[in-house]
Order: sequence, then C-alpha cells, then structure tokens
Amino acid sequence: MRFGIFGDIHGNLPGLQAVLAAIRTERVQHLICTGDMVGYGAEPNACCELLRSTGAVCLLGNHDQACVSDVEMNWFNPYARSAVDWTREHLDPNHREWLATLAPVARAPGFLLVHSSLPEPGKWVYITSPEIAWDTMQAADRNLIFVGHTHVAEAYRKVAASPVRRVQFRDGGEVFINNGNRYVINPGSCGQPRDRNWRAAYAIYDDAEGKVTFRRVVYDVDAACERIRQVGLPESLAHRLHVGS
Ligand code: ZN
Repeated sequence: MRFGIFGDIHGNLPGLQAVLAAIRTERVQHLICTGDMVGYGAEPNACCELLRSTGAVCLLGNHDQACVSDVEMNWFNPYARSAVDWTREHLDPNHREWLATLAPVARAPGFLLVHSSLPEPGKWVYITSPEIAWDTMQAADRNLIFVGHTHVAEAYRKVAASPVRRVQFRDGGEVFINNGNRYVINPGSCGQPRDRNWRAAYAIYDDAEGKVTFRRVVYDVDAACERIRQVGLPESLAHRLHVGS
C-alpha cells in the first residue's frame, strides 16, 4: 500500500491544496495528516473542510488542542498565542467539534503515528535530537513512527547497536525501511516549513517497496501571506512563510 503523509498545515490553504494535488498523482490508497490543521494561518475553516472531504486519518496537534479548548498557552510564543486567539474566535463550531474528537496518537498497519513524541504525546515534546528520537523509538511497539510538530523534514534511524542517526531532507530524498532497524520520520510541514525551504512538504510511504520518499512542492505562498495580512494576523507569520522558518 502507498500512504500520502503530511501535516502541520496551520490554516495554510494554498499549501494544503498544492500538497493534496501533488499526492493525487502518486497513486496512494491512504491519506494521513499528522496534526496541527489550524493555528498561524488565515484559513482554518477551509483547511478543515478540505481535509475532512478527503477522508484522511487526522491526528490532534498542540495548536488544534489549544484552538478548541482552554488549555494553558504559557509555552506558546506571543505570535502563536495571538494566532490561537484569532483561530478560537473564527473557527466554525462544526470544525471545532471535529478537532475535539481527534487523538494525538494513532495506529496504522505496520506503523505508528504521533504528532509530537512518545512516551507522553500530550506533553508535546519536540523531537530535535537523536536522544529524544530514541525515547520515542523505545516507547513504541512498532519500528516505524511518523511524527510532525517540528516542521522539519527529516529521518532518525537506529541500526543495531549503533547510536541513532539523524538525516535531514529539506530538498527531498528517500529512506529505505529495513524491518530490523527503527525509524522516526517527519515529512515536514505543508503549511509553515521551518527548514529553510519555503516549499510545502509531504512524504509517500510505500510499504511493499519499504521506502519513504520526501517531497517538496511549490505553492502560492504570496496568496497565503496576503490572506494572513487581510485578516490582521501578525506580519511575522506571513514573512516566515517566504523564508521557511
Ligand atoms: Zn505545528
């Protein structure tokens, strides 16, 4: 089977549209969204609507949770917090209810999905080092785990007794999955990349071939920025889309 895997959309409709259009050409049977559908971007409702129409399996991200509950936001920076406040105010009740039903972890045949990390997905720990990736690998009952949260396209791989190794894929690439090894894989962000490549990110996992392919796709970043300015969200949230940070 082939899986189209993407996440961290953050209300960026042009980014999501470009990724879905690209995935449509890749003969996938299943769509998986690793969470953070909303927060930061100007079109949370349109993103939820489009995503729900695809039948994708969706995880709950920390921004989704913050936008649909009164959870403490102390650890969000001021820009993220103002985007959460704006999204809370503008999110359609129907989409709010849907987001509230989602979980931060899910199982698929042969692999695990988690927005942030294990063993405590609700703590939203970022996987930013091989040591933190190892914690997730050890807590998982599968050898392949797809994550989101950092907005960086990369893979962590543990082969036999050697230390976990990290490889970044900001311009695309491939990882071959060997069942004897362990992997934590982040497809990157489709709505707010932070790996110095502004293009929208996604991955294809082919379990018969045992291969994950990282891809980037051009999208209408100017339109996404314009919408952010139109609705009065902070200018920095538009600027960072062009930089990929
Ligand atoms: Zn995110």
